[in-house]
Amino acid sequence: MNPRMALDDVVLWMQHGLDRLVRRCRLGRAPASGRRRLLVVQIDGLSLPVLERGLAEGRMPFLRKLLQRERAVLHPMSVGLPTSTPAFQMAAMYGVAPDIPGFHYHDKQRRADVYFPRAGDAAHVENTQAAGRRGIVSGGSTYGCIFTGGAVNSLLTFAMLKRPSGAGLLRALSAALVLAWVWVKCSVISVAALGRALLALLADPLGAPRGWKLLALKIGVSVWIRQLFTLSVARDVYAGAPAIYVNFLDYDIFAHAWGPRHRRALRALRAVDRSIQQIARAVRRVPEHGYDVFVLSDHGQALCTPYDTLTGGRRIERHLFDDLLAPAGAHEVGPTAPTGRRVAGGIKAIRSGREPGLVQRFVNYLEEDFPWLLGELKEAREQGGVRVIAAGPNAFVYFLDEPEPLAAEKIDARFPGLIDEIGRSTGIGYVMVRAAGGPLCVWRGKRYRMEDLGAGPFAGRADLALVQEGIRSLMAMRCAGDLVLYGLDAPEGNVSFIAEAGAHAGPSTDEMHAFIVTPQGVTLPGPIKHPLQLYPIFARYGAGA
Ligand SMILES: [Zn+2]
Repeated sequence: MNPRMALDDVVLWMQHGLDRLVRRCRLGRAPASGRRRLLVVQIDGLSLPVLERGLAEGRMPFLRKLLQRERAVLHPMSVGLPTSTPAFQMAAMYGVAPDIPGFHYHDKQRRADVYFPRAGDAAHVENTQAAGRRGIVSGGSTYGCIFTGGAVNSLLTFAMLKRPSGAGLLRALSAALVLAWVWVKCSVISVAALGRALLALLADPLGAPRGWKLLALKIGVSVWIRQLFTLSVARDVYAGAPAIYVNFLDYDIFAHAWGPRHRRALRALRAVDRSIQQIARAVRRVPEHGYDVFVLSDHGQALCTPYDTLTGGRRIERHLFDDLLAPAGAHEVGPTAPTGRRVAGGIKAIRSGREPGLVQRFVNYLEEDFPWLLGELKEAREQGGVRVIAAGPNAFVYFLDEPEPLAAEKIDARFPGLIDEIGRSTGIGYVMVRAAGGPLCVWRGKRYRMEDLGAGPFAGRADLALVQEGIRSLMAMRCAGDLVLYGLDAPEGNVSFIAEAGAHAGPSTDEMHAFIVTPQGVTLPGPIKHPLQLYPIFARYGAGA
């Protein structure tokens, strides 16, 4: 046995004893036995094709062993649109069709952006959309998730950033033991990683900047957070938590930075596999707790070119505002078109200057790289009553004077030619817009109705029906932009509107096709075509609890 893992076990058993002491002090009851418990391990961002490659290349030996010898079964799973963690988890955890069009979007009625990493936003979405439904993690623990799923104990979960939970002094002490051990262990690993990086630096000084960025990510996410999650889940397993949902972020983060099939992203799979092994061992040791372990992913990623590398550093917002929506242009003709530009006063004054002097360039620089200094959220810009949010391979355009979604007919009347011009712009794949007869998908300058998609942008896709259904449900979301732009399948290839090599939110095959591994003895009612179908499967673990 790996000596490092053996030491983990000693610490966990000490901690198990502490937990028994907690119960003896009547601070909590021993978990009732005789029913199965839910344990979900999410590998964020891992598509089925990349998982299959990882298995074939021997990067996930434990998962392969589960599949070959322990009668776990790998099922393909399609996740609908957008291919994004918050939408997936809202559907899977609560069985609610989400109104979550992306990781970052605007709510015209509330006149507010939703940006999941910002404290309070995830909690608001969870409270309003899950509204009183029982989450699949009720009474249990979530780690690294967007929502709590009803958990009483959450760590690094976006919805709980403002008020981390977990009750009782002794329980905290028990958690502290795990934390202290993670600290000791990670320090040793971090020192080793630093040492290796220094050696690499000596060998290749020019490769250093990228190398240091990688190292920071590696130590931060891959080591500390994964270790903390793994040991915390093991602790919960020994304690018999009613349900556990842990999200390992390593692969997703590395795939965003370098691409979904880059060797650094693939290497992260090995570390996640070891964590799954550690969790599975804890589960085997307490068969009386009856955990069923599901391993799944929430979406995949597409390899992308960042938009600004195609445009010489120009962002999509600038193209839209300056080239297509500029008030000097002849576009704005409708009587209800917004008047008056709501740009911060000082900026406006500087803009009106004719010479793009030093100050102007400095303001442009601030606007490009530090919009929050000017009161804006990163990747959100507003001008002339139009708000643009670049969320990834997707960008949303909102016409703010109209609280309801604005359909193509009205946009055409206000801005003749705008939709089609955007559709023909550099780095644009699809433009989606609502219309009287159902949503339209504009591709290469031509408008397609859902029933015609197979003759255009999605010709030859075996999963055409899933794409059609995905676009329909995305454009039925109240908060999806009046225009939803995708850089996927642009003439230049796949494009993301933010600086990343791997991206997701859209309908490409790699993004939409994820997987679920079911444990021995659990069967699925049929193929999973949307995470909503997971809810009844997971919710029955909590029924009657
Ligand atoms: Zn991601």
